Amino acid sequence: MQPVKLLAKLTTKTLNLTGTFGGSGQDVIDWRTAAHALVGLPQCQTNWAYFRYVGEETRLNKVVRSLTMHITLFVKIKRFKVKPETLNGIVMSAIYEYVQPVCNECDGSGLAPGQKATNINADICIKCFGRGRKPVSNRSRCKIIGIDKKSYTSSHDEITKELLRLIAGWESDIFKNIREKMGEVA
Ligand SMILES: [Zn+2]
Repeated sequence: MQPVKLLAKLTTKTLNLTGTFGGSGQDVIDWRTAAHALVGLPQCQTNWAYFRYVGEETRLNKVVRSLTMHITLFVKIKRFKVKPETLNGIVMSAIYEYVQPVCNECDGSGLAPGQKATNINADICIKCFGRGRKPVSNRSRCKIIGIDKKSYTSSHDEITKELLRLIAGWESDIFKNIREKMGEVA
């Protein structure tokens, strides 16, 4: 089974349909297989997978905590000056941005058509500015962060991009784990 299809099976909706009182035996086995596919992942990745694909919104706190921990180090190294509440807002808006549908111009690669990801000088997609997701307006981003539109600095944007990279790394770990557990090592 393809990882994407498998993760789709992990949604709350599927669970409701295939719970003890409904659905076929086959579906229940699929659900258990899917859960098995996440076993062995580190805690951050596990929380993200359950938050995003199983619809366990209670995992959000743990996801926020992991991201904050990782990004605090990044902020220190970069010597950015960011208030803790602003940083928390940026974490929330990055999560919001990450779960947006993929950009239909570049299919999520963030690169201009014909560009290869291996080329570090590749041109970025002009529609999503290299983010690979449907663009979130600066206005909604700042609303989530809780700052004025004009107060969104280039440091804030660098932090946002680093957070998106972190989550993308988790997702690639998740998909790799699923492939291994399903015996489909690429
Ligand atoms: Zn794009």
